[in-house]
Amino acid sequence: MSDPSAKLIKGNTGEWEVVIGLEVHAQVLSQAKLFSGASTAFGAAPNSQVSLVDAAFPGMLPVINAFCIEQAVRTGLGLKAKINRRSVFDRKNYFYPDLPAGYQISQYKHPIVGEGKVTVDLPDGTTRRVGIERLHLEQDAGKSLHDQHPKQSYVDLNRAGVALMEIVSRPDLRSAEEAAAYLRKLRAILRYLGTCDGNMEEGSMRADVNVSVRRPGAPLNTRCEIKNVNSMRFVQQAVEYESRRQIQVLEDGGTIRQETRLFDSSKGETRSMRSKEEAHDYRYFPDPDLLPLEFDQAFVDRIAATLPELPDEKKARFVSQYGLGAYEAGVLVAEREPAEYYESVAKGRDPKLAANWVSVELFGQLNKAGKDLAQSPVSAAGLGELLDLIKDGTLSQRLAKDVFALMFETGKGAAAVVAEKGLKQVSDTGAIEAAIDKVIADNAAKVAEYRGGKPTLFGWFMGQVMKATGGKANPGMVNPLLKKKLDG
Ligand code: MN
Repeated sequence: MSDPSAKLIKGNTGEWEVVIGLEVHAQVLSQAKLFSGASTAFGAAPNSQVSLVDAAFPGMLPVINAFCIEQAVRTGLGLKAKINRRSVFDRKNYFYPDLPAGYQISQYKHPIVGEGKVTVDLPDGTTRRVGIERLHLEQDAGKSLHDQHPKQSYVDLNRAGVALMEIVSRPDLRSAEEAAAYLRKLRAILRYLGTCDGNMEEGSMRADVNVSVRRPGAPLNTRCEIKNVNSMRFVQQAVEYESRRQIQVLEDGGTIRQETRLFDSSKGETRSMRSKEEAHDYRYFPDPDLLPLEFDQAFVDRIAATLPELPDEKKARFVSQYGLGAYEAGVLVAEREPAEYYESVAKGRDPKLAANWVSVELFGQLNKAGKDLAQSPVSAAGLGELLDLIKDGTLSQRLAKDVFALMFETGKGAAAVVAEKGLKQVSDTGAIEAAIDKVIADNAAKVAEYRGGKPTLFGWFMGQVMKATGGKANPGMVNPLLKKKLDG
């Protein structure tokens, strides 16, 4: 079925639709590995976190880490997916220096989590449902190091055996932007759940991107898989490059070979790595060292009871409880911390004003300074204090922005900045009247023009009075006073 909302790509011979599915490997947040007690901490000295099980010494037996199972179930619940109370661990056989056992323990026909769905928020404010096909648990491999010795490669097994969740989406995505937005949303859900830190730079989340192109409405075409893409931006670039490459091949009369490709981020292009294995190449069979994994509904229910409010529910609540627009609410709930920050600023205050200050002023300054919220010099309480000064008339919106910039720069509180810089809004009638009188006296010609029937000049007079008071006059007071004097 052609999707009416799909963004089509124009080729030389007509339009094409790109079809994308993602297989995301997400490292389970857990102290210990999936089948051994070795640590999972990132950045340790090579081979310092390797148990005999991870190194595949003869006779070593894997023992399942119950916490990793819990994390997979928690993730499945967060993805609104079917939890399979019986699943099976299989051996996926292949030979590679960073895989000492010669096989990876994974799940094949019977994964721990079945079908689910993710609602993706697109930049234009619309949403798209993306089907999740499955989530299975498996071990990560080690790492080959090719840059430590001129003639030899080394192997670091610290990562070998770390638990991964492989989350496979349906081919429901129709553009590079959608693929990146899906990954962003999936990452947000995992981070809310606390089941993966989503740190793509450290490799805790990486995506295999399946791309094919077809004529709108035509059946699915052969796909290529782009391996291990490790940022949202690279996912987007890889899809853009790969879809154009495939269109060109097809328009030139060629055919797409099913293959695994690499994304070269320095060149922004994909290139062939190997022809894609079929599942039978791996000779999957149930791991004889592990019984099928079974748990009861009570185990699932216990985890379900601890689930936090997830981004979609939080967004819906922000819209209904605070009257925010969908887009603004989406920005605030994209991560857990900003959402909490916002709610503490909004508590007992105008929620729309609070949302505007958090998402525009605060995020803007943080962005400019290259800081994240945890490093913000302005706390939620501090921003709340500033909003209170707007409400009681001490500060105009404009002055408040200046005060905020100084708070951000110095880490001082709103009241302290106002006192120190004398930024208090002038609400003293006498001072305002004096300023108005001076503006009127200095601009006799304009006054005559205004009185002669040009009321649009009023705005100009407002501007002059504000300027004369250094922007500190309370505009709500200037307006009626100025009107009275000009008209009277
Ligand atoms: Mn995998």
